Amino acid sequence: MSQTDMTIFEKLESEVRSYVRSFPTVFTKAKGYKMWDQKGTEYLDFFSGAGALNYGHNDPMMKAKLVDYILSDGITHSLDMATAPKAEFLTKFNEVILKPRNLEYKVMFPGPTGTNTVESALKLARKVTGRTDIISFTNGFHGMTIGALSVTGNAFKRKGAGIPLQNVVTMPYDSFVNDNLDTLEYLERFLEDGGSGVDIPAAMILETVQGEGGINAASFEWLQRVEQICKRWGILLIVDDVQAGVGRTGTFFSFEKAGIKPDIVCMSKSIGGYGLPLAITLIRLDLDIWEPGEHNGTFRGNNHAFVTAAAALSYWEDPKFEKSIEEKSEKIFNFLEGIVAKYPELQGEARGRGFMVGISTEIEGLAASIAEEAFQRGLIMETSGPKDEVFKLFPPLVIDNEGLEQGFKIIEDSVKAVLG
Ligand code: PMP
Repeated sequence: MSQTDMTIFEKLESEVRSYVRSFPTVFTKAKGYKMWDQKGTEYLDFFSGAGALNYGHNDPMMKAKLVDYILSDGITHSLDMATAPKAEFLTKFNEVILKPRNLEYKVMFPGPTGTNTVESALKLARKVTGRTDIISFTNGFHGMTIGALSVTGNAFKRKGAGIPLQNVVTMPYDSFVNDNLDTLEYLERFLEDGGSGVDIPAAMILETVQGEGGINAASFEWLQRVEQICKRWGILLIVDDVQAGVGRTGTFFSFEKAGIKPDIVCMSKSIGGYGLPLAITLIRLDLDIWEPGEHNGTFRGNNHAFVTAAAALSYWEDPKFEKSIEEKSEKIFNFLEGIVAKYPELQGEARGRGFMVGISTEIEGLAASIAEEAFQRGLIMETSGPKDEVFKLFPPLVIDNEGLEQGFKIIEDSVKAVLG
């Protein structure tokens, strides 16, 4: 087969391209936690398509279902018409995910991406409450359209809008709070101070672990306090589980262990199971006040994604799956803590929860150099945080111990090489 010329991207693809720069090779094949480029070089995938491949690449069970479906001339595109794969996904989502967790939600299909679900959640919160303001948190990341970007606490990304973004108050997230600054207490004082005419916001939106913002994990207590404030003031709580959901933090929903019940939940990325585009917005039953057609979109019903999404939920029928995530997570975190302790020159800190972890370093540019070095040695990982100060370990949840050990070795070798 002829080789693809890398320079085509430079010539024809917009300057906005990014991953093609960080991982400068042409990828051709992938399986489980491995990817290969056109030269046959093997890479360990500790990136998982930015969290869209929690079940790895080309999962055999999902692939078989998808191939059968395609061969049977099953419907691919159907807007929001009724189809069997959509019914199967809804049924399984209710039976396998919602019911055992004592959760009841209506499921909305807002469009194919994470940004679409956030956009729908913000619109719905404003429509339900009749209020305008939204509270979001420092370093939160919620998407790139104007609404979702307005709640995204990232100056660089906001600059991309080219215009000021409004009606959002961004407050310090849990990990930036200390004894002298308690965001939630501050917020409550504001809300209580009716005399100064502060408007009650429509919603608060947050990630329980901030992915793009630098793997900042909120404590369960903090999340519970957020929920209490929301309840007290009739503010809707939107949890953006686009990245932290679908097992990434150890449980299907990232908020399960905190024991909170958000009013609206945003999901995408791995919900499609196979890397196919799918997003859902979970809506508290009494809040589903949309009128038919008020929020639509052409690609709300990719039936290939429904087929794989339904198949992916089978993983959650077996409690061993969750247990295995927990065991491997412990291993990963121990490794990270070991690296931080062994290489004090890193000035590092191990962060995160479950399979949503990384190491932050105080030294400018170091995390990016480590990720670049790791790529040269055959491992793909991303950096995150406002100064790209974190290298992020995001392997698929299905990775085996051998894959983890191989990855750990490459990461440690890269740290050593970069520190000199
Ligand atoms: N919310 C969160 C928490 C995300 O991490 C992302 C994507 N990184 C989005 C929303 C936006 O999703 P998408 O890129 O699919 O539009």
